Amino acid sequence: MTSLNLLRPSTVPEAAAMLAEHGNDARVISGGTALVPLMHEKLLTPAYLVALYKVPELNYITYEPEVGLRIGALTSLRDVETSPLVRQHAPVLSYTMGHIASVRVRSVATVGGSLAEANYASDPYGVLITLDTKAKAIGASGKRSIEMRGFVTGHYETALQPHEVIIELFVPEVSHDTCATYIKYTTRSQKERPAVGVASLARLDGAGTCEELKVVVTAAAETPQEIAEAEQLALNEKPSPSLVREIALRYSQQIEPLEDHRASAWYRRQLIEVLVRRGLQSVLRVEGGHSR
Ligand SMILES: Cc1cc2nc3c(=O)[nH]c(=O)nc-3n(C[C@H](O)[C@H](O)[C@H](O)COP(=O)(O)OP(=O)(O)OC[C@H]3O[C@@H](n4cnc5c(N)ncnc54)[C@H](O)[C@@H]3O)c2cc1C
Repeated sequence: MTSLNLLRPSTVPEAAAMLAEHGNDARVISGGTALVPLMHEKLLTPAYLVALYKVPELNYITYEPEVGLRIGALTSLRDVETSPLVRQHAPVLSYTMGHIASVRVRSVATVGGSLAEANYASDPYGVLITLDTKAKAIGASGKRSIEMRGFVTGHYETALQPHEVIIELFVPEVSHDTCATYIKYTTRSQKERPAVGVASLARLDGAGTCEELKVVVTAAAETPQEIAEAEQLALNEKPSPSLVREIALRYSQQIEPLEDHRASAWYRRQLIEVLVRRGLQSVLRVEGGHSR
């Protein structure tokens, strides 16, 4: 039987040094809601757990006008959901966090753990991509900033280097004329991971012309999916029901959905079309885009 050593650093550099020292034998643990079940199943058997819960400098939410929100990696999903700063400056992020699992799980699960887990069926990635969020990480070669777009590289795989620790999430200031939504569809309990999630964000000028559109579909494939040529159809256009239908159709045709216990590939394709259309109707303020 292998023994498990719990290491409790009290600063970020100490945590980074412990990870560097123990290499592949060590694993960061934050809330443990994803890692502990994997260890119970013996899918992961680290000899050292580097526990971040005694690193208070990683638990904060701050806001700087015209710059944005900074959220420490050890902040719980529940604290992000209920933060008055997040509710005021990035309400879609607060809403999304509030629809992950149960209050019990959200009170323990952390921002850093949620991002590093890289489960394809996680809720936050789409919204974080539409908000141009960046993760700050520290590793052997110092600190660096990683764009959330491209952060998930495969199932349980991220752009993090081995032993890099996420220390912060930076959400740039969201302009006041931006409208954003997240739609999550679950096929079992409402507290479950999504079968498909759709994050949409749009900016219209005073005359109602679209200046910016981002739509990211999650939980449908191994990585978050964004179809740039479909988004571009809306640029400099006055949104209409036919435009909304066309963009939604392109998303459903161009994403290769996976198949799992939550939904078949065929069902996911239908969901993508319907949910992208609903997201677009909301952020582009278009009514009557339903074709079914
Ligand atoms: C019952 C249940 C329901 C759930 N439902 C949903 C859902 O509806 N939607 C959804 O999106 N998710 C859902 N989840 C997943 C949940 O959001 C994640 O388990 C949680 O966010 C992971 O955070 P944690 O702090 O517990 O991470 P941990 O379990 O501590 O770690 C997870 C992984 O990230 C690594 N890690 C942790 N912190 C860091 C860091 N700072 N830097 C680098 N690597 C790090 C760990 O080494 C590990 O590999 C659910 C989980 C449970 C148990």
